[in-house]
This record gives sequence, structure tokens and C-alpha cells, in this order.
Amino acid sequence: MPGDFMNFGSGPHFAADNTIKLMGKSVLVTGGAGFVGSHLIERLLGQGAQVICLDNLSTGRLSNISRHAGNDRFTLMRQDVCDPILIAGAVDEIFNLACPASPPKYQIDPVRTFKTSVFGAMNVLELARRKGARVFQASTSEVYGDPEISPQHEAYRGAVNTFGPRACYDEGKRAAETLFHDFHHQYGVDIRIARIFNTYGPRMCKDDGRVVSNFVTQALMGRDITLYGDGSQTRSFCYVDDLVEGFLRLMASDVAVPVNLGNPGEFTMVELAQMVLDKTGSSSRLVRRPLPKDDPRQRRPDITQATKKLGWAPTVALSDGLDRTIAHFAAELGRPSCQTATLMPEAAE
Ligand code: NAD
Ligand code: UDP
Repeated sequence: MPGDFMNFGSGPHFAADNTIKLMGKSVLVTGGAGFVGSHLIERLLGQGAQVICLDNLSTGRLSNISRHAGNDRFTLMRQDVCDPILIAGAVDEIFNLACPASPPKYQIDPVRTFKTSVFGAMNVLELARRKGARVFQASTSEVYGDPEISPQHEAYRGAVNTFGPRACYDEGKRAAETLFHDFHHQYGVDIRIARIFNTYGPRMCKDDGRVVSNFVTQALMGRDITLYGDGSQTRSFCYVDDLVEGFLRLMASDVAVPVNLGNPGEFTMVELAQMVLDKTGSSSRLVRRPLPKDDPRQRRPDITQATKKLGWAPTVALSDGLDRTIAHFAAELGRPSCQTATLMPEAAE
């Protein structure tokens, strides 16, 4: 196998009690007001860490973090990650999540997206170098592009178009991995890299544009379900709580090479749409829309390394995670989460 990827050594690299060592640590989370970042911050605060959330609120929301406003272990820095990060005092750990993740959002300003990944990585790495902090990069399955193999393992180098609408995100994340590699080898910065596969759950924005939030919102509102292409393309969906557990285990480990984190269950978009329709009891119609350019045909993580080295595997099945996500969106939209269930008493009269 090429590259560093197989250089894991043998045996587990994660001690189960390591997450407890967060007590009193100062942890910076960039992109902490976003969907994943806000869940991560909750776990970090729950384990006694001091948390600084750096976010420019471009795709994140204050409402995702407002519950921590009175917590003296929580600070919000409203800042762009592309600007140098100046923090007085200790920083023990950095989680770099700042970057729009939804294709329609990251394609609005592709140059900014690329800068966010690359300048952002540079800035967190420089900060880590100055502070002697461990630094984690939220990388992505998009580094594999439109993969020719399935499932995708970490040694696979990917098939990415450098010259298309997804390139700003995919190549930005690949360049960030390169910077992490080079800061590690050149300056000894202590790095961790998670290659995250599609993740979903409460606190995704309803107008975010990603498939789970689109389908659930459309079904609850009785609008057409927008299926791009023929819906035969596949994705593997990881529930956000599982992902955050993977983050903490990876950060507490000694694994300084990229690790896939995702749920290996693989579904077509037609199957996903049908599950959402069944669960919501919605009468929305499935309508076809053009397949976006360079939309990957398939995606499924090989999580052998995460399982072997971190003792990690997802625990929430798509069906259960969708129930929780639908309940969240229903509350946000002021709709019943299952229309057939609500109709039942009337139907019985
Ligand atoms: P999100 O859009 O909800 O969150 C991103 C956060 O970063 C937002 O709060 C946004 O305001 C902030 N941000 C964006 N650009 C910034 C900038 N220039 N300076 C400061 N803050 C900025 O996305 P998410 O789903 O929570 O994703 C979080 C991270 O995980 C991203 O880096 C994303 O690439 C990565 N990731 C997510 C998934 C997924 O399925 N959710 C999959 C692969 C990778
Ligand atoms: N998709 C879809 N309808 C939508 C939104 C997305 O059919 O309303 C498809 C999209 O074409 C892709 C898959 O769902 O094949 C996942 O899209 P998403 O934007 O969530 O993530 P990504 O493409 O980055 O994996």
C-alpha cells in the first residue's frame, strides 16, 4: 500500500479513559456554530473542557450555541478562520471544522471556500505550532472524489476533478491534508485527520441544501421531494453523535494519519427518499431534477482502521437516526413528525 497510510503499527491506539483527560483543557473549535461543531462543543463542555468557538457564522447559527451563553467555560470568537488566530493563554487542542460542507453553499463563492480550507488550515497549524497544541482536521470523503472502488479505504488516492464545481471543496480539503502532513513532518506538529463521510442529524439547517435536510423538510412541508438524477447514486449516512464519538477517540489516540469516520450502511437516494416518506407519512411526490456535475456515483467508508485503532464503530442505524432528525425538523418547522399518526384519531372518528 502506498504512502504513510498503513503505518499504524499494531494494537489499539486509543485508551478508553482518554476522553476524561479533557477536564480543564483549553480547546478551540473552529466552525463550532455549525451543525457538527455545535454537537462537538456540547460533548467537550460535558467533559469539563474550556471551549473557545471560532466562527464567522456564514453557514453556522448562533442558536446552535446560544445555550452556552451563561457558561464561563465557553467563549465565542466571531472571526474568519482565514485571518491569523490570536489567542492569549494556553490552547491544548484545536478542532478545525470551519468550512461550509453543503455543495450548494460551498459553490456560492468557490474562491472563498478554497481559501477557507487552505488559509484556515495554515492558521490553525501555525497556532498549534506556537501553542504546542494537538490539532484535528475535519477532512472529508470528498478527497476520494467520484471513487472507482468501493468501499473506500484510506490508502485509496481518489478520482477528483480539479476543474469542476466541487473542486474548490475537494481540492481545498486535499491541500489542507497536505499542509497537516507537512507541518507534522517539518515542524513536529501533533496532528489528527478524520475523513468524514456524509453525516446528518438535528441542527442541520433546513435550507442547507444537503439531501437529508432537503428530503425531511420537503416531506414535512408536503412539498415535492427533489431527486437529483435517477436517484441510484449511493451515500452512507452517519448519525452525528456517532461521528463526534469518533472525533474524541481519534483526538485521544496517537494516530497521526487520516482515518475514515462514517457509517458503512449504503443507500441509494431513492431508498432514502422512500424511508423519509414512510416515516413522515407524507404524500409528497418524488420529482426528478438534473444530476449536478461531478456528483459522486457511490460512497461507502471502509472503517477497518477506525475500528482496529480507535475501537470505534457507529451505533445508530439510519432508521433510528432519521426518526430523531425528523423529530428535530418537525419541532423547528412546527409540524407533526408523522402525518399519518396525527391523522389517525380523526380517521377513527
Ligand atoms: P456547517 O456548514 O454546518 O458548519 C461549518 C461551520 O464553519 C459554520 O458554523 C460556518 O459558519 C463556519 N465557517 C465557514 N467558513 C468559515 C470561515 N471562513 N471562518 C470561520 N468560520 C467559518 O457544516 P458541518 O456539516 O457542520 O461540517 C463541519 C466540518 O466537517 C466542515 O469542515 C466539513 O467540511 C466537514 N465535513 C462534514 C461532513 C458532513 O456530512 N456534515 C462531511 C465531511 C466533512
Ligand atoms: N441529492 C438529491 N436531492 C437533493 C439533494 C441532494 O437527490 O435535494 C443527492 C445529491 O445529488 C447527491 C446525494 O443526494 O447524490 C447527497 O447529496 P449531499 O448534497 O447531501 O452531499 P454530497 O453530494 O456532498 O455527498
